[in-house]
Amino acid sequence: MLKEIVVGIDIGGTNVVAGFVTIEGKILQTIHHPVKQFETPELLANTFSEEIIFVCKKNNWVLKGIGIGAPNGNYFNGTIEFAPNLPWRGIIPLAQLFATKCNTTAILTNDANAAAIGEMIFGAAKGMKDFLMITLGTGLGSGIVANGELIYGHDGFAGEVGHTIAVKNGRACGCGRKGCLETYASATGIAKTVVQWLNEGQESVLKNIPAEKINSYKIYEAALQQDKLALKAFRFTAEILGESLANAVAYTSPQAIILFGGLANAGEFLVQQIQFFMEENLLQIYKGKVKIMLSQLPESDAAILGAASLIWKKFKN
Ligand SMILES: [Zn+2]
Repeated sequence: MLKEIVVGIDIGGTNVVAGFVTIEGKILQTIHHPVKQFETPELLANTFSEEIIFVCKKNNWVLKGIGIGAPNGNYFNGTIEFAPNLPWRGIIPLAQLFATKCNTTAILTNDANAAAIGEMIFGAAKGMKDFLMITLGTGLGSGIVANGELIYGHDGFAGEVGHTIAVKNGRACGCGRKGCLETYASATGIAKTVVQWLNEGQESVLKNIPAEKINSYKIYEAALQQDKLALKAFRFTAEILGESLANAVAYTSPQAIILFGGLANAGEFLVQQIQFFMEENLLQIYKGKVKIMLSQLPESDAAILGAASLIWKKFKN
């Protein structure tokens, strides 16, 4: 029997993964290639398209479309634009390349937006029409869903909560400005906080680890051992994030804020404290109404499910 399938593609800084996803959110098969293997995005689209067509034919699957999650992805144009962590420069029309090669619909958006749709179709935001998705990895990504739709803005770039200024004249950000939220509230941000405090001579079990080896996981382990500095770093991170989220709530009045990614795995140290600091700063009319939740998508599959859900959402509507 013919089975309908959507391919979700995750373009990462190291690997490109394509997964064949059913409407129930089951990943039946995956294809992996290191991103370095492809000198041009055309070569990437050629290789993956040939394999996608081959796998679909072999299994009697009907390809309903291809969803792509990529850094600096522009939904309106289907392009990746000036992504600092990918080997190709400039503006890359990746959705068009896949649509032509596979003769199907292809939709592309940035990874945090794809995660938000994935959460809405398959995860913690099932049935929700208004929520914020916050991904806490190397940076802080965000996707804003309001009235059941992802907010893209007039140019496709809406939802850069990570680059709202959280600390005036604060840390230098990769975007060239100072004090952006993601320089504090991300896996990289919490490591910067700890290194700064260690350099100031504060005591911690982390003080014998070289600065470049300190990461959010080591800080989490130290916090589990009740290390004061590590616990304080989580509290400080939660405070800055909680304040920023209290501001973000005022724009769309979300029902929930869903956290995902490397730093969100330190759930117990973060969720309650973020909730506390957000509540403290919320306007009265929002108090007690916005839940901070953890993602319900398995981390290894979330990017693929998110990308695939860009297509499945069209058929579910
Ligand atoms: Zn920035």
